[in-house]
Amino acid sequence: MTAPAVEARGLTKHYRKGAAVVRALDGVDLVIGRGELVAVVGRSGSGKTTFLDTLGLLLRPTSGRVLLDGEDTGGLSDGARATLRGRKIGFVFQEFNLLPGLTALENVLLPLRYTKVDGGRERAHELLATVGLDARAGHRPTELSGGEQQRVAIARSLVNGPSLVLADEPTGELDTDTSAEIVALMRRMNRERGVTFVIVTHDADVASRADRVVRLKDGRVLSDERAAAAV
Ligand code: ADP
Ligand code: MG
Repeated sequence: MTAPAVEARGLTKHYRKGAAVVRALDGVDLVIGRGELVAVVGRSGSGKTTFLDTLGLLLRPTSGRVLLDGEDTGGLSDGARATLRGRKIGFVFQEFNLLPGLTALENVLLPLRYTKVDGGRERAHELLATVGLDARAGHRPTELSGGEQQRVAIARSLVNGPSLVLADEPTGELDTDTSAEIVALMRRMNRERGVTFVIVTHDADVASRADRVVRLKDGRVLSDERAAAAV
């Protein structure tokens, strides 16, 4: 395997529910190599979102570590975690999460609002062109189809030049053909830009296009299988 992009070591996340404790993550060890496109699958409640949000430094684990490009993030302050997240990680969500009052271009530019980047607008236009939507740069989300909105969201996730993109059920709102297009787009960004993708999905067709499928159950890794021939 190539150098690790992100590593989980003994990750746990426990939530208190009255007297009971929910073990959303119950000891996850996983190494994801640079340039991999990994699907994370499992039933609802198996810990997928908690796992992704922990890898993305949105949640702190109860115990265990997350290493990003070999750097242990556990001892970092909230501010340092936010900075690292902003530099290295892009996010894609099931509900697209575009801001309705902004155009496609402005949405793509959003992650740059706290970062001084030269040529941000050019980069955003280039990314919109890459996802086939430069002609829609001035359109608002309500004027775009679900698939188009998700393509804008993928462009947004890449505008910071991240090494890692985390996608939580990115095709959950889309029909089969559009889902296939979205996965193909993520695969293309993975190949062309060397970006590592971790995609949480319920969709067997999406999972079948990954290099590797990690199955969670009750907050643990149930299986971790590499595809024979990744598409
Ligand atoms: P998935 O994404 O696989 O559906 P989640 O990671 O969302 O699973 O949830 C895993 C478990 O943790 C579930 O039992 C869920 O109810 C619980 N859980 C998740 N977030 C919280 C929270 N903020 N407070 C309490 N329990 C939570
Ligand atoms: Mg979830």
